Amino acid sequence: MIKDEFGRVHNYLRISLTDNCNLRCFYCMPDEEYDFTPAARLMQTEEVEQLARLFVMEGVTKIRLTGGEPLVRKDAAKIIESLSALPVEMVMTTNATRIHEFITVLKASNIRTINISLDTLQPDKFLLVTRRNLFHRVRSNIELLLHHGFKVKINVVVMKGFNENEINDFIRWTMHIPIQIRFIEFMPFSGNRWTGNKVFSMQDMFSEIGTQFEFLPVENELHDTAKNFMIPGHVGSFAIISAMSAPFCNTCNRMRLTADGKLKNCLFSTGETDLLTPLRNKEDVTGLIHASIRSKARQLGGQFSGTFEMLDAASIHNRPMITIGG
Ligand code: SAM
Ligand code: SF4
Repeated sequence: MIKDEFGRVHNYLRISLTDNCNLRCFYCMPDEEYDFTPAARLMQTEEVEQLARLFVMEGVTKIRLTGGEPLVRKDAAKIIESLSALPVEMVMTTNATRIHEFITVLKASNIRTINISLDTLQPDKFLLVTRRNLFHRVRSNIELLLHHGFKVKINVVVMKGFNENEINDFIRWTMHIPIQIRFIEFMPFSGNRWTGNKVFSMQDMFSEIGTQFEFLPVENELHDTAKNFMIPGHVGSFAIISAMSAPFCNTCNRMRLTADGKLKNCLFSTGETDLLTPLRNKEDVTGLIHASIRSKARQLGGQFSGTFEMLDAASIHNRPMITIGG
């Protein structure tokens, strides 16, 4: 069992398969010219499996594949296949631009729930966020996943002045379609021009949704980062991830393995533990995993508290989101 000093059991591993991506979302990719990590410095197919197995032996019961964009990796299908042999719940976060190429692999895998990033329902705004003209592909791939019976969750990063006026359009989408919309508060990462006044908080979201819909809270699971809600009469639902206004560190069970094989014990941790080099040198990795989690800070990597309004993003030390794995 992997446990930290505060008694939190860590049984959920998020594995980033790559820091590369075919989109350029401005809140995720740094502004400056960005060099993707060369393939040799990334975990190779077998190394991903070896590390995942070690974590499972230590008590991990859920694995999320993420990135960058996990499906731009050439060996993504092989990795999905090999991890599907593990006795864990497998899920994935993707931008959905390549789902149509992977639908057979996904159907044969253990993955049943897929989170898809889509921050706007307007094609021109999609181009503004992602700098790529792939809105219709993403929409048709969402249909494809639903058609094949996958559970689909839509991740929407809500940014004040950009897409908060679409929140109720997303809610309307859940009327007849069994999807869950997850509204995420905008978080600060290196190079993403975050400022506190761009955060559209959970309270702001409640007010906006309340202008058009009635909604009721749904009981959360212990480790849920999302607060879940249902709208009477809708087949879908929505959730809010209040990472900035009401962080959920008390019940955190998550660890992140970056594509270059570094373990981050928190999304906002300043430090990271290299697992890939010792693995390649045939050294003990299990002890390093436990030591890393034991050193986890109580809240938000020890970098800030829950009052985001006064936060100076320049004072936060972290990688860009694309190199962490959301
Ligand atoms: N490429 C995949 C995708 O876009 O779904 C997986 C990787 S992406 C880094 C994972 C999640 O992190 C996405 O849902 C994205 O919206 C979220 N994310 C990225 N930057 C963020 C930020 N600054 N604040 C909040 N969420 C963010
Ligand atoms: Fe790529 Fe996902 Fe980041 Fe957008 S959010 S740039 S799709 S990794």
